[in-house]
Amino acid sequence: MSELAMRAEKLDAADELREKRDAFVLDDVVYLDGNSLGALPAVVPGRVEDVVRRQWGELRIRSWEESGWWAAPERIGDRIAPLIGAAPGQVVVGDSTSVNVFKAVVGAVRMAGEGRDEILVDATTFPTDGYIAESAARMTGRTLRPVTPADVPGALGDRTAAVLLNHVDYRTGRLHDLPALTAAVHAAGAYVVWDLCHSAGALPVGLDEHGVDLAVGCTYKYLNGGPGSPAYLYVRRELQDRFDSPLPGWNSHAEPFGMRGDYEPASGALRGRVGTPDILSMLALEAALEVWDGVPVEAVRAKSLALTDFFLECVAEYVPEGRVECLTPVPHEERGSQIALRCPDAADVMKRLIERGVVGDFRAPDVLRFGFTPLYVGFADVERAARVLARTLA
Ligand SMILES: *Cc1c(COP(=O)(O)O)cnc(C)c1O
Repeated sequence: MSELAMRAEKLDAADELREKRDAFVLDDVVYLDGNSLGALPAVVPGRVEDVVRRQWGELRIRSWEESGWWAAPERIGDRIAPLIGAAPGQVVVGDSTSVNVFKAVVGAVRMAGEGRDEILVDATTFPTDGYIAESAARMTGRTLRPVTPADVPGALGDRTAAVLLNHVDYRTGRLHDLPALTAAVHAAGAYVVWDLCHSAGALPVGLDEHGVDLAVGCTYKYLNGGPGSPAYLYVRRELQDRFDSPLPGWNSHAEPFGMRGDYEPASGALRGRVGTPDILSMLALEAALEVWDGVPVEAVRAKSLALTDFFLECVAEYVPEGRVECLTPVPHEERGSQIALRCPDAADVMKRLIERGVVGDFRAPDVLRFGFTPLYVGFADVERAARVLARTLA
């Protein structure tokens, strides 16, 4: 057994999150793609069965009240809230991240008022955010200006209405400075929207603490909600009365069952709702969130950094120098919970890695992405992944 393999065993034995693995359905594959689709929490199948057979099959329409279906978007929002540093009453679950980006960006532009005619968007953003921001700009008569997060402070001014940023870059795994960038946007009198898809469930976000205005994120990556599980929208409490949703559906009406012809928005987080929630996905997500009971986000972050540090160390030891280039920043304060390695034959390498039981993913044109989900990935997994990677690259 190599020195690194022995170290991995010791690190696993000392890991206080180790027992959380038992809360997931896993096999002998090393699964490093939980930043794309989280693994299945063991509690979910039974819950979904109950929701379908009893709540829907037997109680039928009564379940909107008796099974808590109607209030699920706010209730589950409050369950996600502590994971992103939000007090209750500010997060609502529903729709996809793309749709919530639209609500948040248009909402932010409307708050900023007529005088401000520019929207800044992260030039390296996950594509959907950029497409939506472009359409939001066109619809609101603003100009969209793509800038890298590092250039945001210099690009801000009295023309800036809203800024849309990704907390962690989906390709490189770079973590952006949310407190400093939020403060800079506020100093310019503008509103910030953070996309938390690659940070929620992997590291502390601190939305309330840092005064973030609006935030969105998906739940099927680090939060393990299942394929296509609904996303969430955070609107800071002090801004909720001014949040003028561009999608004011009947679910966000002050009197949804009044069936009135005029729209009067509800108060609070539920102003972010639109139409009838997708209950099956939403309640699967609610069950999946139980794995976070008693788990401090700080412990998750500490393990995440230990896992990615150890992976970098194993790669440096096993992979011949110069064979791959690491795109992920080495300083902890600039690193999310994934490692991105670049090599010219990445597509083929990932295909062979998966055949050998190590699942990461490939991002065009030349990036190997490995996501580290601290609740169910261990140090022995990391050592094995690096060893198999080295063999595949040889
Ligand atoms: C995964 C991801 C999305 C996904 O959006 P959907 O609407 O859920 O498909 C959006 N933004 C970022 C930054 C992501 O990482």
